[in-house]
Amino acid sequence: MANILKVLKGTKDILPQEIEMWHFIEQKADEVFSKYGFKEIRTPIIEVTELFSRGVGDTTDIVNKEMYTFEKSDRSITLRPENTAGVVRSYIENGMSRLSAPVKLWYKGPMFRYERPQAGRQRQFHQVGVEMFGIKQATADAEVILMAVNYLKALGLNDLEVELNSLGCPTCRDEFKNRLKEVLKPYFEELCEDCQNRYEKNPLRLLDCKVDSCKKIFEKPEVQEVINSDFICDECAEHYTELKLYLDRMQVKYNENKLLVRGLDYYNRTVFEIKSNNLGSQNAVCGGGRYDALVGQLGGEPTPAVGFAMGMERLISLLPEKESKKLDGYIVSNFPTDAFILAEELRKDGLNVEFDLSNKKFTKQLEKAAKVAKYAFILGEEEILKHQVSIKNLETGQQIKADRGFALKMLDF
Ligand code: ATP
Ligand code: MG
Repeated sequence: MANILKVLKGTKDILPQEIEMWHFIEQKADEVFSKYGFKEIRTPIIEVTELFSRGVGDTTDIVNKEMYTFEKSDRSITLRPENTAGVVRSYIENGMSRLSAPVKLWYKGPMFRYERPQAGRQRQFHQVGVEMFGIKQATADAEVILMAVNYLKALGLNDLEVELNSLGCPTCRDEFKNRLKEVLKPYFEELCEDCQNRYEKNPLRLLDCKVDSCKKIFEKPEVQEVINSDFICDECAEHYTELKLYLDRMQVKYNENKLLVRGLDYYNRTVFEIKSNNLGSQNAVCGGGRYDALVGQLGGEPTPAVGFAMGMERLISLLPEKESKKLDGYIVSNFPTDAFILAEELRKDGLNVEFDLSNKKFTKQLEKAAKVAKYAFILGEEEILKHQVSIKNLETGQQIKADRGFALKMLDF
């Protein structure tokens, strides 16, 4: 026998018994995001590699280590590791800046990152996310965070925590970066390899490090003093204060976390994450923030923007399992042509119906009906002669006989 081929490491099939959970979170996304005026956009899964090296940033793990990149006709192409860059490309390319602001877009779909697979971390995973373009005021940040929380509530997830921080703007952040580098300099040799590499290129990312020995260094009083200093400039501080006021008024609870810096280069001012305590170490379900420089960086008119992305597998792992939907009806009959005809009649009337395609015994068919359907539609010789059908409620066991045309009306017994 030939070798059995297996799914690639870090990827998964979404099986029929799981698909209802996916439909549920996708439909809720459409429902909730539409309430806020967001429209769905679908961008290609492959993009030119440069979009991500310029958009996501050369110093990020995503671009450095995690991209699936290949050559085709002398072009370097990458499977999208995230979708903000793709949406921004589309916004620019399709002249959406001419539309009246804000432009509100949402997306869902697969993303690809070459990471070490583990619980909550796959190589092909799915995100649902939103991007809002054209608004610099904190109202936009607040609306996006509120909408994320309301989406999670609509899924039935209440036990989640919003973490919030402001990274300031490039000007005030530069000063902070320098102070951080200075205070960490004496400890450079003790930092982990990743942190040493990031020290020059992206010192803010050090704060995100999960290595214990690095965390210990960040707890030293002089380092804490720098981390907790109010480095952000007056305008950034005002934006942050406003955002917090809106969130308070909208009764969105949040924890401020000065160590929250997010992995990507493009954020400024607001960054946030939503975490669950029920997810183990991969506990972030949502990450987002403001990225006012990205549209300009990718060649568009400078346009303020804010958005988030959620990991759909992580959302699903937090939800109670849904039972697969049963068929409305299963036709039990030894007369396949009549069963065929009745099945089509009922399907036209809007029911989900199957019948036995393989000439099984009557009792076997009835057993199958009890497993897969709510009602058995029984067509024996007598029913066929009288143009009737017996309908058995497979939950209660009750059975009635009805004329074919009226059969549907009898279903509420
Ligand atoms: P993490 O800290 O978990 O690596 P991240 O900062 O890389 O997350 P983002 O790029 O902000 O994540 O993506 C947003 C969300 O997408 C995450 O909060 C998470 O729920 C989900 N996510 C990210 N990477 C993966 C992955 N490899 N597998 C499954 N879900 C993921
Ligand atoms: Mg990551």
